[in-house]
Amino acid sequence: MMAGVRARDTRPELVVRKALHARGFRYRLHVADMPGKPDIVLRRFRAVILVHGCFWHGHDCPLFRVPATRRDFWQAKISRNRERDSEVLQALEADGWRCMTVWECALRGTGRGELSVVVDTLIGWLRGSAKRQEIRGRC
Ligand SMILES: [Zn+2]
Repeated sequence: MMAGVRARDTRPELVVRKALHARGFRYRLHVADMPGKPDIVLRRFRAVILVHGCFWHGHDCPLFRVPATRRDFWQAKISRNRERDSEVLQALEADGWRCMTVWECALRGTGRGELSVVVDTLIGWLRGSAKRQEIRGRC
């Protein structure tokens, strides 16, 4: 994968989309006129779901490790990504959006949860009133 190209339609994102769709939820994808072009937008619930790859977003979990070569490059790049993530969350919240981050490790790797449990958590959050929340693997 080329540096600087953000992955779209990555597997964890597709898994979340399909599961929500199967449960009757409808959404818009990669909405260009919103901060950070959020992956999944559910206007009815005033909610956005961001599905984050643990490597690109520098998650503190076993799926993230700085590559052995060009460490400085990767560290700088990933810390920029993290800063941007935090700015995007703030901008979305300032516009009144509720934000859920689903980390890749919730769905992949040894700490992943049952998909049905992850989706139940997600739907519980959609129907509730909590603002910022995240779902991650057990690490
Ligand atoms: Zn993770």
